[in-house]
Amino acid sequence: MDEISFLNGGSFHRYSLFGTKILVHGSTGAIWQLDDTCWRLLAGEDLSSESSGEALAELAAICEEARAAEARFAQQAALFASKLETGPMYVKSLCLNVAHDCNLRCRYCFAGKGAFGGERGLMSGRVGKAALDLLLQLSGPRKNCEVDFFGGEPLLNWELVKELTVYGRENAAKLGKKIKFTLTTNGLLLDSEKMDFINREQLGLILSIDGRPEIHDRMRPTAGGGGSHRAVLAKLKEAVARKTDDNWWVRGTYTGYNLDFTQDVKYLAEAGFANISLEPVVTDQDYRLREEELPLIEREYERLASYYLQRRREDRPFSFFHFNFDLAKGPCLAKRLLGCGAGHAYLAVSPKGDLYPCHQFVGQSAYRVGTVFSGVERPEMSEKFRAAHILKKEKCRLCWAQLYCSGGCHANALAKNGDLLLPDQLGCRIEKKRLECAIVIHVLTGGRAQIPV
Ligand code: SF4
Ligand code: SF4
Repeated sequence: MDEISFLNGGSFHRYSLFGTKILVHGSTGAIWQLDDTCWRLLAGEDLSSESSGEALAELAAICEEARAAEARFAQQAALFASKLETGPMYVKSLCLNVAHDCNLRCRYCFAGKGAFGGERGLMSGRVGKAALDLLLQLSGPRKNCEVDFFGGEPLLNWELVKELTVYGRENAAKLGKKIKFTLTTNGLLLDSEKMDFINREQLGLILSIDGRPEIHDRMRPTAGGGGSHRAVLAKLKEAVARKTDDNWWVRGTYTGYNLDFTQDVKYLAEAGFANISLEPVVTDQDYRLREEELPLIEREYERLASYYLQRRREDRPFSFFHFNFDLAKGPCLAKRLLGCGAGHAYLAVSPKGDLYPCHQFVGQSAYRVGTVFSGVERPEMSEKFRAAHILKKEKCRLCWAQLYCSGGCHANALAKNGDLLLPDQLGCRIEKKRLECAIVIHVLTGGRAQIPV
């Protein structure tokens, strides 16, 4: 049967989780929930002795819908790809590393324990203002820009954070633009004066905590070598209680030391945090994630999804960042194809004012693309990042997750494979498992089961 071989081929992905059977069409992003008969037919079972006429008709309809969507999508994508590589580049977001210093000594911090492998130092007002001026200039016709105050620990340069927030808002408004600010912090220096400012200026907060005390303290010691968990937890609880909007996340990192990371999410959820994110560590150290551990990691995400659903059933829901996107209202095609925007739509700024493709590259001289004073001096580097979209990556073109993953992390691709166009395998497997869980959660919590493009 033609439809069965079609639906089993190409970038279709069929899987079952918690008894829910799903079919995803990678090249269009369409998703269908399958009934048992459709599932068995697609698995190649001979159902000729059973009445499977309705299921066959359903598969034929899916097949027709997918073919039509594929044709529509191919047209849009081709149009987009040609515009993409020739059109002007506009910057949307900046990561401002206002402090290359930190009051913690986290072992996995790509900031080189707070100093990015270089000198410790704070950004000056001159550099910060030049960065914001450059953002407003390079954002061209874009009306909405984003700035993340980052570090090290940005609260070590609090006066500058305040100054730049006001400066950015005022200067953006003069041009009819808006800047959305966020602050990524370990929280230790938060106090009521800072929280008042954060609320007044509506800064988003990304608050770093890894979960259980022993897990957090092993990786996030203080400068003196002691544990930071107790103090961080108290500060973050206070900050969240004072935050007057929902624009915040607690975010942790899991490593090879805590592959049972559901326990860490559980710890944070039971501690009362309603918005939780947990990211896999990126490192080549002992506590790295190993390919042979992937089956364990994938099973752990299923365990986490099960806990997430259990909390919903108990009417005690929380948000987990990677399970928490609305598949029916996903990002536009451009965003889906382009991914994170590092190097062209998104740039990171070091305290001295050097520009890099994103925060992961800060301090790597080979990737320095310019300065806040001179602008982008190596447009060919920005072009290279822009051209590394999913339509260019052979692996992504065949991948069922392509329109939800958007091509993975450039920094990881370079670190692992030395090639922007070769995504990191470990990252791909994790991304796909999270997506499988997110789709099933979406279906089991009343989301539309059938999501054609
Ligand atoms: S980066 Fe990996 S998971 Fe993402 S679309 Fe490409 S191949 Fe798929
Ligand atoms: S390259 Fe990776 S770390 Fe950098 S912005 Fe993109 S996804 Fe994030």
